[in-house]
Amino acid sequence: MIPGTVRLRQTPPWQTALARAITDPAELLEAVGLGPQLLPAALAAARDFPLRVPRGFVTRMARGNPEDPLLRQVLPLDAELQSTPGYGPDPVGDLAARAGAGVLRKYHGRALLVATGACAVHCRYCFRRHFPYGQSGAAAGHWGEALARVGADVSEVILSGGDPLMLPDWRLEELVDGLRAFPQVRRLRIHSRLPVVLPERVDDGFLDWLARIPLQKVLVVHANHPHEIDASVSRAFARIRESGTTLLNQSVLLRGVNDDASSLAALSEALFAAGALPYYLHMLDPVQGAAHFEVGETVARSLMAQLAARLPGYLVPRLVREIPGADSKTVLAACSGATAQPPGR
Ligand SMILES: *Cc1c(COP(=O)(O)O)cnc(C)c1O
Ligand code: SF4
Repeated sequence: MIPGTVRLRQTPPWQTALARAITDPAELLEAVGLGPQLLPAALAAARDFPLRVPRGFVTRMARGNPEDPLLRQVLPLDAELQSTPGYGPDPVGDLAARAGAGVLRKYHGRALLVATGACAVHCRYCFRRHFPYGQSGAAAGHWGEALARVGADVSEVILSGGDPLMLPDWRLEELVDGLRAFPQVRRLRIHSRLPVVLPERVDDGFLDWLARIPLQKVLVVHANHPHEIDASVSRAFARIRESGTTLLNQSVLLRGVNDDASSLAALSEALFAAGALPYYLHMLDPVQGAAHFEVGETVARSLMAQLAARLPGYLVPRLVREIPGADSKTVLAACSGATAQPPGR
């Protein structure tokens, strides 16, 4: 080996924070000041899909409140063990859309790379909770193989997962190097929950990477409730925006978390104050174990009408559902307030 080419890879602080995430249900319940009543169910449900939540996210939860909207997103519950008709392991047809080597092709002009199966947080409602990442050949380590499937018609590459920002900077670097061979790709979009659940990830190394990407950049974060946006998250968002990246947010409409107009309106306001625009509000994908989070379409449309009546149009997300086989996400309601009754009739 040539001296000087050995790069010392020190563990960055975000990886230390990640390694310290809470994975033991007993520890989580204790951290939020709850007794052990919920523990047996949490242990049982965590066997299927383990608990995982960074400590910084836990500090944003209220103490002593089993209904806390952030706690509900991560605490395994009894209800997950019930099977519900219509709820299956692959609700959005990802297995059929696999183009090989961790690439999903569903929509015109866009290729989605499943960069890694790992996440910093395990969201109990996640539509990928049963997805066989092992068999899908996640792109980590195989960018070449994944990029070979980026066709001439692809103008936007979407990095998703799992959470692509779980990859270390040098892996992200490799991807951008690989993309240089594809002049038809004009935009790089990143779907990540890390800036919200582990804002430590937005460090100098990551920001350098972002600033050097010679494409238009979009980062779509994922927050569901205004309490998720604290000062550390706002700082991370501000730094991302300084790199010339468009910042959007997607949420999932979740019973007991954000299924009221006040929470959704406050979320939009908090996001915009921190520099992000609301993009999509997703209807829950019918994944096995998440039926207790479902909000019906009638309620969802009514919430959207209330939001449209309260907020400027640019703060109203599009309510969408993913229908397997459709050529886009299906919009159920948008910012026009189209679902509201005409006034005075
Ligand atoms: C959701 C999704 C996209 C992005 O859709 P947009 O409407 O552009 O946000 C792209 N590819 C796949 C496979 C998706 O699931
Ligand atoms: S961060 Fe995204 S992919 Fe990961 S568990 Fe949560 S919803 Fe699923």
